[in-house]
Amino acid sequence: MEEVCPECGEEGIDVEASTVRHMLEPFVNQDVEETEYSICMDRDCSVVYFDGDRVFQEGDVCVPVNFKMEPDERPFPLCYCYGYGKEDLESELTKRGETGVPDWIAQRVRNGECACTYKNPKGRCCLGDVNAAVGELSERLRGKDQEPSGGEHCC
Ligand SMILES: [Zn+2]
Repeated sequence: MEEVCPECGEEGIDVEASTVRHMLEPFVNQDVEETEYSICMDRDCSVVYFDGDRVFQEGDVCVPVNFKMEPDERPFPLCYCYGYGKEDLESELTKRGETGVPDWIAQRVRNGECACTYKNPKGRCCLGDVNAAVGELSERLRGKDQEPSGGEHCC
């Protein structure tokens, strides 16, 4: 059953109670019931987890919640299992023009070494986010190379 966030009205995505419990600060985590929770993915809404009118806000969560952060914020966590953030991809892409991080994480997933259920606030694998960030950053870095010639025409 799809639930909507009581704060912003956005449709939530499912998350296990055990994930929510792992993500919350001490004592708040004791308020998590054995029920189905939903995640509000709206970046501008302060609600992270909800069940009906019961909500847990960003301040209740013990890690920075990447889907509530501005894309330009740094550090910007992507892989909560191994600590890779956008800033790490950025530095590798700047230095080498490519990054082996997505493949390396994919290998960890294949080996069953990941702990996304308990470490990622979404309770899901980070690979989609990592690949999206590689695309976004590569595009931006390519754009930067072209900027000086384009910029000269201005003023
Ligand atoms: Zn919301």
